[in-house]
Amino acid sequence: MKRIIIHWTGGTYVPNEKEKEDYHFIVDGLGTVHKGNYTPEDNLNCYDGKYAKHTGGGNTGSIGIAMACMFGYKNPKNMGQYPMTNIQFEACMKKVAELCRQYNIAITPDTVLTHYEFGLKHPETSSAGKPDIGFLPPYPEVKYSDVGYFIRNKVRWYTKHAR
Ligand SMILES: [Zn+2]
Repeated sequence: MKRIIIHWTGGTYVPNEKEKEDYHFIVDGLGTVHKGNYTPEDNLNCYDGKYAKHTGGGNTGSIGIAMACMFGYKNPKNMGQYPMTNIQFEACMKKVAELCRQYNIAITPDTVLTHYEFGLKHPETSSAGKPDIGFLPPYPEVKYSDVGYFIRNKVRWYTKHAR
């Protein structure tokens, strides 16, 4: 696997069937990690159609992990009923760190990134303009443009401190 792409679902705190189709891992509102219907290895070859379709134009070789949250989100002042929870965010970062170790993926802007960042780098794909992850409710002071950087630092911390 060459990279990990991090999402929010835009749904409620409980993963639904569509989300299990779309992501390899989904972290619910209480921080429990659920497996999706496909394994990361299913995304090594996307020509058979049997893979997690989490990132338009970037699914091959990509692990997709999502936090189940943010349904009804409009902006930082109008977050809807399902803002990302602190425990959910931490559990997701810990899981990403474990995946980095398991698959020997380095923590760089090209290999651990948000869906939003992927869209910025690949404006020709359907991932361009995706809003996830442009705001972290547990850390509202982090600017839109700094979320990916903040996430990578969190993941680095977990690779050093968690087992
Ligand atoms: Zn996404």
